[in-house]
Order: sequence, then structure tokens, then C-alpha cells
Amino acid sequence: MRAIVVTPETEVPHVREIARPEPAPGEALVRVLRVGIDGTDHEVIAGGHGGYPDGESHLVLGHEAIGVVEDPNGTDLDAGQLVVPTVRRPVQGGPTTYFERGEPDMAPEGHYVERGIAGAHGFMTEYVTSPAEFLVPVPPAFAETGFLIEPISNVEKALELARASRSAFEWAPESAMVLGNGPLGLLSVGLLDAAGFDRLYCLGRRDRPDPTIDVVERLGATYVDSREHSLREIPDVHEPMDLVIEATGHAPHAFETIDLLAPNGVGALLGIPGDDSVTLDGGRLHREFVLSNKALVGSVNSSVPHFRAALDTLAAFPDWLAEAVITDAFAPEAVESAFESDEGRIKSAIEFDTL
Ligand code: NAP
Ligand code: BGC
Ligand code: ZN
Repeated sequence: MRAIVVTPETEVPHVREIARPEPAPGEALVRVLRVGIDGTDHEVIAGGHGGYPDGESHLVLGHEAIGVVEDPNGTDLDAGQLVVPTVRRPVQGGPTTYFERGEPDMAPEGHYVERGIAGAHGFMTEYVTSPAEFLVPVPPAFAETGFLIEPISNVEKALELARASRSAFEWAPESAMVLGNGPLGLLSVGLLDAAGFDRLYCLGRRDRPDPTIDVVERLGATYVDSREHSLREIPDVHEPMDLVIEATGHAPHAFETIDLLAPNGVGALLGIPGDDSVTLDGGRLHREFVLSNKALVGSVNSSVPHFRAALDTLAAFPDWLAEAVITDAFAPEAVESAFESDEGRIKSAIEFDTL
């Protein structure tokens, strides 16, 4: 069967024939329909994040998938059930405490591998196997869009951590800004819109006309250009933000977020930057944190409840949103085009099959 892989020699995603997997006891066999591409895939391909499975000289890419159960193999799943796989798995023979708690997303490095990213093959192939507990059932209506559940689940977790950090007092956030108009940023704006935020902003660095700005504005959010205003100026130009979700991976944004926040506000950081030196007035930022009760939380990955919440969020999106974000679906053979950037493109998927 066909799989999309990278190897240390090529570092360019390409199709390779691999053996179809056999489900082990407790695992189901899943026929893959679509697999999305995100910024993390590009970082993995560039060698900046993740890594190959132990002893292997290729990595099957892909961590945002939707598929259909081909063989339940004695698990509770039904044949034909649409499922979205989670990303983290325990290290073989390693510690499993966080998995037993249902909190693999909170596991420290060394306790997990990530399918398609770090130490385990991903879902960009015709068939995959997975323990049933890591397959989240979704209704048939999501056969084309359901791979968005994984990235949305990452934002669900970030929002949960942000809210938890403000749970000691009455926090009634009204304004929110998403930093970044990549796929994760746009899905974050969609999620906050569905969550009832009225005053929404999204930061980018693009000229109009641009499809991401169209999505931001169609959601009723205000597009802010980072080339015109620094984050520190935004509270004066627009307003201070009760909530910030960072999805640029631009390291200075982590710290500039403190200036962007309103008193008692919280910023959730999702971006995964490479090494980057940042010059800042640490004293002023430290004061801001303390004297204005501000918080920053980092958030990575997500667990099954976040996937379930993400399904509800995807279902609550306006009809046009998922289609506007998924601009392209490519056959596996067109993999090179699928990973190219293009002005009109927001999110691409590789389509292995349809329902
Ligand atoms: P992406 O496609 O690379 O999107 C990043 C966006 O940020 C791009 O649209 C980029 O604009 C914009 N941007 C970068 N620097 C900016 C600046 N200075 N001012 C304004 N906009 C700026 O990646 P993605 O898939 O949306 O993901 C976003 C980040 O989150 C990545 O670092 C990814 O690795 C990370 N991530 C983390 C998690 C987690 O669980 N923590 C989950 C998924 C993704 P241009 O396109 O115009 O360059
Ligand atoms: C994935 C997460 C993963 C994170 C770090 C993101 O793109 O969606 O599941 O934990 O990258 O590798
Ligand atoms: Zn991702």
C-alpha cells in the first residue's frame, strides 16, 4: 500500500510502498480517508521537530487523520464507523502512568511517541492500526472535514488550561486575539467564535486580497497586521485582550503577549519555535505579570475528551468554515504539490479514499 514518507537522505515527502499492517489484539484496522498537513509537518520535514522511529530510516508522516474502521478485530468499534485517531502512544516498554490517567497530553518527553511526528509512523497511508481506545468515533457527516478535529482539539486543550488558570475568581472574558492566521490560528478564531466571544481579533502579516483574511472577516473578527502594529501597541489601537491564543510559532510573541493582555488576562501559547534569542525588558514584563494578575500557559497535544469537544466545535462551525479552511485535497501521487505553499492555499489534505 502507498504511504507518504520522509527519509534522512531525501527530507522531501514522497510515496513509498509499505506492507499493510495487521491489527494486534485490542487494535482495529482503519482505512484512511484524508490526512491534513500543518505547520508541524513542515517542521518535522525540515528536521526541526520530532524524529524517526527507533531503528528505522523512514517516517510515515501525518497526524491529522480521518478514517473508517475496516476491521474492528474484536474491539468495541463497528465496521464502517468513522474514527479520528489521537496522536500520542506510550513508548514500547516505557512508563504508562499518564496514559492510564487518560492524560497522555500531559506526559513529559520520554513517556510518549507521537504518530507521524516523533518516534512513530503516522497516518499518511492507506491503512493504519491503532488500539481502539485511541480512536474517537465521529458521525458520517464528517468524512471530509473530520481530520480538522485533531488541530481543533489542540485549541480545546489550550482554552481549557487558560480557563483553569483563571478559575480562582470570576473571569468573564469578552475580547480575544489569536496570533497567527495559519490553519491553527483560523481554527482558533472559529472555536472562539463558536464559544461565544463577540470581540475577536486575528493577527497576520499578509496583504489583501488573501483567503485567510477573508475567513477572519467572515467570522466577524478584526484582522490586525503585525507589520503595522507591534503587540504592545494593539491595546491602544484596538483594546487590551482578556484572552490571547498564540499560534504563530514566533518566539517574541510569547513575551509580547504579556503587554497585549488586559489585567487578569491569560495567554495560551501553542506555537513551537526553533531556537531564537529575544531581547526584552524582563523587569517590566515581570511587573505586568504580578501587578496585573496576568498568566501565560503553554499547551501541547490533546486527549480524548478534547477530541470529543473538538467534534462538537466542528459541528457548531458555520457551514462554510471547514470548506473555506480546507482549500485543497490531493491524491497521494501529488504529494509534492500538497506540501508546497501557495498564496491561495490555507490547508491541504492528502486524500487516500472516500467513504
Ligand atoms: P503555520 O501554517 O506555520 O502558521 C503560522 C502562521 O503564523 C502563518 O500564517 C504565519 O504567517 C503567521 N505568522 C508567523 N509569524 C508572524 C508574525 N510575526 N506576525 C503575524 N503572523 C505571523 O502553522 P499552523 O499549522 O497554523 O500552526 C501554528 C503553530 O502552532 C506552529 O508552530 C505549529 O508547530 C504549532 N502547533 C502546536 C500545536 C500544539 O499542540 N501546541 C498543535 C498544532 C500546531 P504567513 O503564512 O503569512 O507566513
Ligand atoms: C500536533 C500535536 C503534537 C504537537 C507537538 C502538533 O502539530 O497536532 O498533536 O503534540 O504538534 O509535536
Ligand atoms: Zn498538528
